[in-house]
Amino acid sequence: MQLSNYHSHCTFCDGRSTPEDFVKFAISHGFRAYGFSSHSPLPFETFWNMSKDDMPEYLAEINRLKTKYSNRLEIYTALEIDYLDETYNPSIAYFRKLPLDYRIGSIHFLPISEHLCEENMVCIDGSFTDYKASLDHYFEGDIRKLVARYFDSTMKMIQAGGIDIVGHMDKIYMNGHKCEGFSFDADWYQEPFRATLDLIAEKGLMVEVNTKNLVKKQQLFPRKEYLGLLKEMNIPVMVNSDCHYPDLVNDGREEAFKLLKEIGFTTTRELVKGTWQDIPTGE
Ligand SMILES: [Zn+2]
Ligand SMILES: [Zn+2]
Repeated sequence: MQLSNYHSHCTFCDGRSTPEDFVKFAISHGFRAYGFSSHSPLPFETFWNMSKDDMPEYLAEINRLKTKYSNRLEIYTALEIDYLDETYNPSIAYFRKLPLDYRIGSIHFLPISEHLCEENMVCIDGSFTDYKASLDHYFEGDIRKLVARYFDSTMKMIQAGGIDIVGHMDKIYMNGHKCEGFSFDADWYQEPFRATLDLIAEKGLMVEVNTKNLVKKQQLFPRKEYLGLLKEMNIPVMVNSDCHYPDLVNDGREEAFKLLKEIGFTTTRELVKGTWQDIPTGE
């Protein structure tokens, strides 16, 4: 089992500890590689995204840690970049020019207007109460419409490019599965979900197996039942904890690797000395 994590947060965004605290935890638990992926700056300020002004300090701090711990841990600088719309997403020049080791593309917000401000965002990654309120207000309470919109945004993000890894690719189900009329088996869910995977495969992107909710809620992103499909499609995966607290760096990793091996994955895609490689999952 690889002891690596490429999706993590720290005090530069909504993580609850300094980058160095996460590094210390990773080292003390025998990790080989650790990547920071703060929530990217947005055109508006939120409590959980990085501010653009902090970018130089973020890059400098991770570089300092790279040097300080160079003989004990491979440390990588990345971002989890939001796709909002055609004008603000991972493919824009601002993100492409940043000196990052890799980029995760994620959907947290669906804008309901061209004017990009927090009031015009439907957040799909917050509380169920807020999700349900947005569903009722902007999608006529029809979960099919919200699911369609989510996968449409995800596919536009993949088409636009500027990313290496698709983050928590089906997070829409976290709150969505509790809504009236939701069904994983319905065509309106299966078709866009599978079309998204087809596009990921076509573009040669990686998909993370996100364990943030695995121990707590037995939820994996992508959903456990679909990992076999990723295997069939030869989509490369790695296991990420998406941790916001140092003691959750390793949360769910063992269980996720067990699942991957049961399904037939013999390798995960890993960053080794700066190059993505397929590394055996081992015994
Ligand atoms: Zn995320
Ligand atoms: Zn994250």
